[in-house]
Amino acid sequence: MAISTDLSGKTAIITGSNSGIGLGIAAELARAGADIVLNSFTDRAEDHALAESLGADYGVNARYLAADMSKAAACRDLIAQAGRCDILINNAGIQHVAPIPDFAPEKWDAIIAINMSSAFHTTAAALPLMRKAGWGRVINIASAHGLTASPFKSAYVAAKHGVVGLTKVTALETAEEPITANAICPGYVLTPLVEAQIPDQMKTHNMDRDTVVREVMLARQPSREFATVAQMGGTAVFLCSDAAAQITGTTISVDGGWTAL
Ligand code: NAD
Repeated sequence: MAISTDLSGKTAIITGSNSGIGLGIAAELARAGADIVLNSFTDRAEDHALAESLGADYGVNARYLAADMSKAAACRDLIAQAGRCDILINNAGIQHVAPIPDFAPEKWDAIIAINMSSAFHTTAAALPLMRKAGWGRVINIASAHGLTASPFKSAYVAAKHGVVGLTKVTALETAEEPITANAICPGYVLTPLVEAQIPDQMKTHNMDRDTVVREVMLARQPSREFATVAQMGGTAVFLCSDAAAQITGTTISVDGGWTAL
C-alpha cells in the first residue's frame, strides 16, 4: 500500500501558532490538507485574519481560537471549543534567562505552565476525541533543551525535559491504539523573533551578518545553519503520515547536529 501524507478530513490544533514555528507547522499541515485551528492568548482582528488567509491559501477550513495556555481550564476549553482534534501540536512557549538564584519565581511558574503543563491539559482533553475518531497524533514541540542543558535556562530546560517525559507516557497509554505521541526537538530555528535579534548581535559583536550568525548565534549548532519553520512543519507532516504509524514515544531532533556534540 502506498504511504500517504494526505491529511484531508483531519483537524489540527496548534497551540501558540500566530507566529514562528507554530504558524510554519500550521501552514505545512494545511498544505497536506488538514483543517486548522490556530491559537494564541490574544484575540485581535489580525489573529482571525491570519487564519482566514491560511485557509484561503490552502483551500482548507482554518479558524483562530484565543486561549491562554498558562491556564489549565483555558487549555482544556480550547480543545472542547474546537470540537474535534485529530492532530494536536503543543507548541506554545516562552523563554526567560537568569541564573537560578536570580530567576524570578513568577517566571519559573509561567514557563512551567505554558511550556509544559499546557501540553498535559490539552492532551488530557484531546485523547478522548482522538479515541472517538479512531486516529490521532500528538506532537509536542520540545527543544534541543529537552535533551541537553544550557546555564541560565533552568525553567525552560526543566519544562522541555518534562515535555519529553510526558510524550513517552502519552505514547505508552495509547500504544495499542492508532494514536502516536512524539516530540520534535528543534535546535536554533530562524523565526521572525530570531531574525530581529541579528542586527543587535551584529552591532554588539561588530561583525557582518554571516559571521555573527555562524560564529555567535550558531556556535552550538554544528551545521552552522538555522533550521526553518517549514522544516518543522515538514517533520510534523511526516509524523502524521502512515510512514510514522509505528513511531511513538520518541524524539526527533531537527537541530543541525547540536545534540550529537
Ligand atoms: P514565538 O514566540 O514566535 O512563538 C511562540 C508562540 O506561543 C506565539 O504564537 C505566542 O503568541 C504563543 N504564546 C506565548 N504565550 C502563550 C500563552 N500564554 N498562551 C497561548 N499562546 C502563547 O517562538 P517560536 O520560536 O516559534 O517557539 C515555538 C516553540 O518552539 C516554543 O515552544 C519554543 O520553546 C520552541 N523552540 C523554538 C526554537 C527556536 O529556535 N525558535 C528552538 C527550540 C524550540
